[in-house]
Amino acid sequence: MPTELLGKPAEELRAFCAGLGEPAYRGAQIYHALYAERRFSFSAMSNLPAALRTRLAHEAQITLPRVARRFASSDGSVRYLLELGGETKAASVEAVFMPSENRQTICISTQAGCAVDCHFCLTAQLGLIRNLTAGEILAQALLPLEEQKEFLKPQTNVVLMGQGEPLLNYDAVMAAVRILLDPGGAGLSPKHVTLSTSGIVPGIERLAREKIRPKLAISLNASTDEQRDALMPINRKYPLAVLLEACARYPLRPWERLTFEYVLLGGVNDFAEDARRVVKLVANLRAKVNLIPWNPGELPYRPPDRERVEEFRRILTEKGVPAFVRYSRGQDIMAACGQLALLESNPGASLTQISAS
Ligand code: SF4
Repeated sequence: MPTELLGKPAEELRAFCAGLGEPAYRGAQIYHALYAERRFSFSAMSNLPAALRTRLAHEAQITLPRVARRFASSDGSVRYLLELGGETKAASVEAVFMPSENRQTICISTQAGCAVDCHFCLTAQLGLIRNLTAGEILAQALLPLEEQKEFLKPQTNVVLMGQGEPLLNYDAVMAAVRILLDPGGAGLSPKHVTLSTSGIVPGIERLAREKIRPKLAISLNASTDEQRDALMPINRKYPLAVLLEACARYPLRPWERLTFEYVLLGGVNDFAEDARRVVKLVANLRAKVNLIPWNPGELPYRPPDRERVEEFRRILTEKGVPAFVRYSRGQDIMAACGQLALLESNPGASLTQISAS
């Protein structure tokens, strides 16, 4: 069976080459070709001798996900439905490539499905199908970058905000993140890679001890335990006081702020009192809040009124909490995470059925 190389760190690639009786530095050359130059076939690795390339084609493999569907939005975003096979259980996940004026942002998944069960999230309806490997996580960033290489802007952001709870697939996620952040690998800045968690406190504490780590975002979505218990049952395990204490202990770098994501659900968590309570919750943290107005979809929530969104933002900023309103991109290609995979798991449904129901 050929050895899968995608997702392996430099030291494992060196050990793999040494195991073949090749000089170990060939491993570093493969690492560079794979992650810095995005060469996904051995024949394209022109930094290796021809004989080694031929040998690698027999002894090793680089498995990219299969692009099952590609949806282009009128706002320039491209949503990929990716089929993962390999040695593990088949699954589909989504990645979204979102270009803007001077950068591109790629949203990637860390698990197929999710066990966390946030009530406003379609992925939750899938349950956990399986964890992704480091290679499968990484490929979701590398593949769109390669496909869009002629149109790339100077800055690339990667957000781990697609399907799955990244901190419940910690080792694979961090193995992928280390390659993304390695100047000799994909070469992204730690300022431009963000991991978003539903609030898995032991995972936050573990991340706090990492030398190389992405920025941290916390999906807050409520201003009281009662409200959060109802929207995100994970809050019963790690209630707000415990979560915010872990945030207070989190060692921020000088340039860094914690991000709190707050999905505004009309008539549920978008009241002025909610905004005032959020101010109190984050008052002692170096933090900013991203307000995400709910997109109409198939779940039983409604978008907040524009005035409510503006008032919420105003209350936060007037109390010194930086707050930004983020409208989700690619609405016409079903931007909520999980929508495409749900469609895939329910082949009887049409695109229109899913997006309009
Ligand atoms: S919002 Fe994230 S953590 Fe919650 S169920 Fe959806 S994928 Fe899982």
